[in-house]
Amino acid sequence: MTTFGTLPIHVTKNIALVAHDHMKDDMIEWVTFNKGTLSHHKLFGTGTTAGMVSQATGLKVIPFKSGPFGGDLQIGAKIAEGDIDLVIFLWDPMSAQPHDPDVKALLRIATVWNIPVATNRASADFIISSPLMDTAYERKLSYKQRTVKDMEV
Ligand code: PGA
Repeated sequence: MTTFGTLPIHVTKNIALVAHDHMKDDMIEWVTFNKGTLSHHKLFGTGTTAGMVSQATGLKVIPFKSGPFGGDLQIGAKIAEGDIDLVIFLWDPMSAQPHDPDVKALLRIATVWNIPVATNRASADFIISSPLMDTAYERKLSYKQRTVKDMEV
């Protein structure tokens, strides 16, 4: 596939944590287990997830709004701005969510910008164990951005 440049994922990564309500215990357990590794990176999260993880682990987690109040969309916007490098998103496949469109938007924009996303514990384990967690990485961009100049043509 054609690529349209790359953008860096730095050694120290900005990691977004999101867990739906039934998955919050899983997230806390996962962050606790990986606390040593995660403490080398900068953590963000949707409001409730950020608060619970921070309280349970003592790690600093910068909170966005709660998911149903725009937190997923804020993370999506940060991805588009190049400020989030990796997303751990433990979403609940067994419950309907009022903010389902926002969830879809976050997953879509992460794919557009070629941001790694773990959507369950196993994928989170594989990502956190990757040697790429300790190195810089150039993520390829597969879609050409339209600019105002393009539209004038
Ligand atoms: P919360 O949001 O961390 O504020 O619960 C998560 C979500 O439902 O997207």
